[in-house]
Amino acid sequence: MKSVGFIGWRGMVGSVLLDRMHKENDFVKIIPHFFSTSQSGKHGPIINNVPFKKLKDAYNINLLKEMDIILTCQGGSYTNTIYSKLRENHWKGYWIDAASTLRMKDDSIIVLDPINLKNIEKSLNDGIKTFVGSNCTVSLMLMALGGLFSSNLIDWISVSTYQAASGAGAQYVIELLKQMGALYNIVSEDLSNQSCSILNITKKVTKKIQDDDFPLKYFPVPLAGSLIPWIDINMGNGQSREEWKGQFETNKILGYKNKVVIDGTCVRISSIRCHSQSFLIKLNKNISLKNIEEIITNHNKWVNFIPNTIDETISKLTPSAVTGTLKIPVGRLRQLSIGNRYVSAFTVGDQLLWGAAEPLRRMLNLLINI
Ligand code: NAP
Repeated sequence: MKSVGFIGWRGMVGSVLLDRMHKENDFVKIIPHFFSTSQSGKHGPIINNVPFKKLKDAYNINLLKEMDIILTCQGGSYTNTIYSKLRENHWKGYWIDAASTLRMKDDSIIVLDPINLKNIEKSLNDGIKTFVGSNCTVSLMLMALGGLFSSNLIDWISVSTYQAASGAGAQYVIELLKQMGALYNIVSEDLSNQSCSILNITKKVTKKIQDDDFPLKYFPVPLAGSLIPWIDINMGNGQSREEWKGQFETNKILGYKNKVVIDGTCVRISSIRCHSQSFLIKLNKNISLKNIEEIITNHNKWVNFIPNTIDETISKLTPSAVTGTLKIPVGRLRQLSIGNRYVSAFTVGDQLLWGAAEPLRRMLNLLINI
C-alpha cells in the first residue's frame, strides 16, 4: 500500500476531501500520514474510528520524502516553499495539489478526469508526477458545459460569476458569519417591533457596515449586505487573475492552444458555499435548444438539466439546493435576442466538491491503483 501524506486537511478543501474519502472508503486503500504547518505534535483527524495521534511537521523534508504521494490543500505559499525543495532533494513521488502555483507549469497536469481522463492517463505513461486541481469556477464550468466543449460548438463564452465566501478559505467564512451577526445584532430588537420603520432599520444596518468595528480582518471590504466585484490580483490590464484563469486553465485542460476565448467578471457574494455562473455563449453553428439540452445532459452523470421555468429554477438552481452535493445543475437555457447563435445558461456547483476536493480524490485513486 502506498504512503500518502496529507497537508491542509483542516481547511475548507481539506476537510471536504477527508469527508469524501470517508464516504468512499478510500482510507482502507492507503497508509495515511497527516502533517500540519501549525500544529505538529498535536492530535490529528479520526480515521476509521482511530484518532491519528501525532501530526507530523509539514516543513520536515525528510518526513515528506518518505511519502509515495503527497496531497496538499494547504495553499500556494506552502507549495512555493516546499515543492521545489522536495524535488531538489530527489523526491520522485506524486504531488497532488489544490493550489494554483503549479497549474500552468509544463510538467504538471490540471486534473478533471470526467473532462481529461485520456490526457491524465497519457501523462502518467509519460512519467508526469505533478497533478493540480483546476480553479473552482473552471472545473464547474467544464462539468456543466462539457458536452458543448467536446462537441466543439463553442466560439466564445462571456461569464459572470457569483462566488461563495468559502472559495476564499475557512477564515473568510468565519468573518462573513461575524459580519452577518453584527448586522443582525444591531437591529434585532427593531425586527420584532411591528411599528419600527424599515427606513430606520436599513439606516442602522448601512451605518453598521461602514463602522470601524465591523469585522474586517480578512475581506478587504464588507461582504455581508454587499458584494465584492474583484477576486485575486490585477493582471495589469484590468482583468483579475480569477478572470484570467477562465480561459487559460480551460484551454490547458482541454489540450488546446488558446482555442476557446473565455472572459467575464468574477464577483464574490455572501453565499456560504457553491459558486454560480451565468454564461453568454456564442455558438459556432445554429442548433436547437432541445439539441443543446441533450448534448449537455449526455456528457456526464453529474450534470442535470433544469427546465427554464420559475419553479424549477428557484428550487433547483441555487446554492442552497446544491450545497454539499456533487450535482451540476444547468438551467436558464434560452436563445438570446442578440442573435440565433447566442444562448444563455446558468449553473451552480459546490466549489469545494467538483471545484476542488473531488478531482483530487479521484486523482489519488488513479495513483493508488498504479
Ligand atoms: P483554508 O480553508 O484557508 O485552509 C488552509 C489552511 O489554513 C488549513 O489547512 C489550516 O492549516 C489553516 N487554517 C487556519 N485557520 C483555520 C481554521 N479556522 N479552520 C481551518 N483551517 C485553518 O484554505 P482552502 O480554502 O481550503 O484552500 C486551500 C487551497 O485550495 C488554496 O490554494 C486555494 O486557492 C485552493 N482552492 C480552494 C477552493 C475553495 O473553494 N476554498 C477551491 C479550489 C482551490 P494548518 O492546519 O496547517 O494551520
